[in-house]
Amino acid sequence: MKISAEREREFIALRRELHKYPELGLEEYKTSKLIAEYLQDLGIEVTTGIAKTGVVGLIQGKSGSKTLLIRADIDALPITETAEIEFKSQNAGVMHACGHDFHTAILLGTAKELFSVRDSFKGNIKLIFQPAEESFGGAEQMIKEGVMNSPEVDAAVCYHVAPLPVGTVELQSGAVTAAPDYFQIHIKGRGGHGSAPEDCINPVVIAAAITNRLGEIKAGKADTPFVVSVCSIAGGTCENVIPDTATIKGTSRSTDKETRRYLYETIKSICEEEAGREGAAASVDYNFRYPIVINDEGLTSDFAETAGALLGQENVVKPQKISMVGDDFSYFSELVPSCYARLGVGESNLLHTPNFNPDERAIAIGVDIMTDFALSFLQRSESDDRIR
Ligand SMILES: [Zn+2]
Ligand SMILES: [Zn+2]
Repeated sequence: MKISAEREREFIALRRELHKYPELGLEEYKTSKLIAEYLQDLGIEVTTGIAKTGVVGLIQGKSGSKTLLIRADIDALPITETAEIEFKSQNAGVMHACGHDFHTAILLGTAKELFSVRDSFKGNIKLIFQPAEESFGGAEQMIKEGVMNSPEVDAAVCYHVAPLPVGTVELQSGAVTAAPDYFQIHIKGRGGHGSAPEDCINPVVIAAAITNRLGEIKAGKADTPFVVSVCSIAGGTCENVIPDTATIKGTSRSTDKETRRYLYETIKSICEEEAGREGAAASVDYNFRYPIVINDEGLTSDFAETAGALLGQENVVKPQKISMVGDDFSYFSELVPSCYARLGVGESNLLHTPNFNPDERAIAIGVDIMTDFALSFLQRSESDDRIR
């Protein structure tokens, strides 16, 4: 299936409209309204206000009981756009710098394509427009509010745009994102005059020692990729006062549960050791954020086959290494067989940068692949009960 040039122009225009009015997590009111109105105008059944600003659309085929969930995240980032484009962000300090405008436009386009052929397939398509991927984890809240039920979801799929050549898709089975956990370390020493360190317990020195040791953490038993990055150290105000306290902030990222646990325990014990050695106290606020996205083997190979049929198999590639970004699509992948695929939008387009300007040719490609995949998934699963 290849969409017409007219539809391609329509979906690009949708993306530009979304791009012009980006909204932060749980504030996506205008975005939600655009989504709901577009779907309703097509004739698709819509539920709004799920996880505050989330929208769900349901396309029902002729009959059948299988349901494929397709997810787009809809929120933007607190970044000031610098790219000189005619549809530049009109909301000061907010920008679609992670391509969620692409995800949303592609899913709206896919909805239009699938709805127009609804008499030709059995089963259901659940369209999930999810808020707050970048911040609060809107996926988890939508699940709590029942989006996996009535009809019950059998499998889930989504895209994320990526700095890869246009016309390529990257995916593999197993872990495809990391658990993006955060930590804050609070060190309590004893301050005093900078001239008399022997009378003090200097928390800045302890913060430096902890930071050095965090950089030296070696893999645990699992020996899979991980990172520990200290991103902020704060303590003290001037040249001659040793402060009472210092704070370290950072992120630890792992791609399996065992390493995730290992990092938590290792960071805690390093802090206790380094602070204890100096007679200080250190407490660790550890925020276990999104789980790891795990791609199902069967679903992933089916998606790769569909993408390969449209793009050529040589343009469907496996990542050279696991990306250490997180994505709350993992809450879906914990519940049903899932596939998270990266869609090329040009190699120079790096996510979360102020001049991010993804190549819009990827929109039609995204719609083509997702539409074909949805149809083939329903055809396969309606005739084969292994999915449930
Ligand atoms: Zn992002
Ligand atoms: Zn993103």
